[in-house]
Amino acid sequence: MAAKTKTGKCFLVGAGPGDLGLVTLRAKECIEQAGVIVYDYLSNPEMLKWAPETAEIIYAGKRAGAHTLTQDEINALLIEKARAGKQVVRLKGGDPFVFGRGAEEAQMLAAAHVPFVVVPGITSAIAGPAYAGIPVTHRGKNSHVTFFTGHENPEKSETSIDFRALAQLGGTQVMLMGVERIESIAREMLANGMRSDMPVALIRWATTGRQETLVGNLGNIAERVAEKEFAAPAVAVFGDVVTMRDELNWFEHQSLSGKRIVVTRSRAQAGVLSEQLRALGADVIELPTIRIEPPSDLRAFAELVQDAHAYDWIVFTSPNGVTAFFDLFYKLYDDTRELGGARIAAIGPATAQRIKDFHLKVDLQPEEFVAESIVREFRKQGGVENLRILLARAEKARDLLPKELSALGAIVDEGFAYRTVPETRDDSGARRRLLEEGADLITFTSSSTVENFLALGLSWPEKMQVASIGPVTSKTARDRGLTVAVEARRHDIPGLVDAVCKFFLGKIDDERR
Ligand code: SAH
Repeated sequence: MAAKTKTGKCFLVGAGPGDLGLVTLRAKECIEQAGVIVYDYLSNPEMLKWAPETAEIIYAGKRAGAHTLTQDEINALLIEKARAGKQVVRLKGGDPFVFGRGAEEAQMLAAAHVPFVVVPGITSAIAGPAYAGIPVTHRGKNSHVTFFTGHENPEKSETSIDFRALAQLGGTQVMLMGVERIESIAREMLANGMRSDMPVALIRWATTGRQETLVGNLGNIAERVAEKEFAAPAVAVFGDVVTMRDELNWFEHQSLSGKRIVVTRSRAQAGVLSEQLRALGADVIELPTIRIEPPSDLRAFAELVQDAHAYDWIVFTSPNGVTAFFDLFYKLYDDTRELGGARIAAIGPATAQRIKDFHLKVDLQPEEFVAESIVREFRKQGGVENLRILLARAEKARDLLPKELSALGAIVDEGFAYRTVPETRDDSGARRRLLEEGADLITFTSSSTVENFLALGLSWPEKMQVASIGPVTSKTARDRGLTVAVEARRHDIPGLVDAVCKFFLGKIDDERR
């Protein structure tokens, strides 16, 4: 008899308003453990990097007018995947139960007897105004807030918003959806007795580097929206609290506010650079350019790993090499001591750190992060004559290291631990954004980031300038025909961030110190 598959669970998860830092810990946990993720237009796709490699990621769309899946299809999909035993994460922008049909999805799951969990999120209705310097309540200005939708359900015969009641109620009123109907909405509000000098603010792409705010009053807001072609997604705030923005607008006044910057990265790398740029207000497009894959001949590498204890030295040249090595090692052995007396060398601090993460000591770490200096260090340590060395590295790496070590008399085995391939997927939509919206600047943190970006063969957005971490990277960029506009004085991430700020501001931002 075939075993019955245990039904999985569906997690209706609030993805917050856009800023990755505004995602709850629970939401992040759900993503990290997901089997299937169904996400929407308004949930920041960058959080998909927290998903396991094995997770199936499905874009449900819902850009106004450009539905990728219909609501019925989404419902059916959630049920089908959960019934197949998957942990299904349904990511919804903001809070799942504030508009956006999350409640309907929950009802449908309940009816289908699919177990579900709701993870509330920070709604754009509150976070949007907050990031525009508008508190939705203030003791001196109001004592209640109303959320309403400007998106009329066309199936309803009468209008679902009671504008007369809204006008009488006063307080702060926050509207989600419906920027495109602002003219008729403002007209209704005025017709029902709201003052024409009532302050109004519209905040689009709130809490992200793309945030823009438009301020006016009920009498002129429609005209301003038309004039600026101010488009969805936006939150609208009606009420006296809007004026507090003059005093409290904090987010839009940062050093890099309004600048769109491309950061090239591989999926697994920590986004330190992105984080620092975002913290200064930049709109960062994290563009994955490469992907780490197992080596073409995994078995050959596994044999070397199995014999690791027979070597005098194991040399690692990248954090990825360390990870690939130990992933295999612990598949073969369950005791670290199986490594025997092999000593460990690491090129570069990140590689050394990854080794320390495995609670192993790094015996040799050259000052400079280049192969040449590893050879020099070995020489200093009395040479390597007749010593057996295992070199764990990427396929197609430079030849120099094994040659030089062999020339010093070592017996060198090269182990190809992984290979890097161009990233062809666009899970986060970063590539689409870059092509549609362009950028002000692209950052390169190594020669390989230059090579990898160019290997994608994307057309170069007009006006996008180049920032490089140092002279070696700049040279590669120039050799490939690029013009380097910014070069960091200190060749590390903080140095690059400083240089980028200087470039845009003409000065270092003192506040940050
Ligand atoms: N559940 C969501 C709202 C879904 S309805 C929440 O709690 O935020 C979709 C509407 O939300 C959009 O039309 C827009 O009005 C608003 N919205 C969501 N994210 C936004 C953002 N980052 N900036 C501005 N408006 C946003």
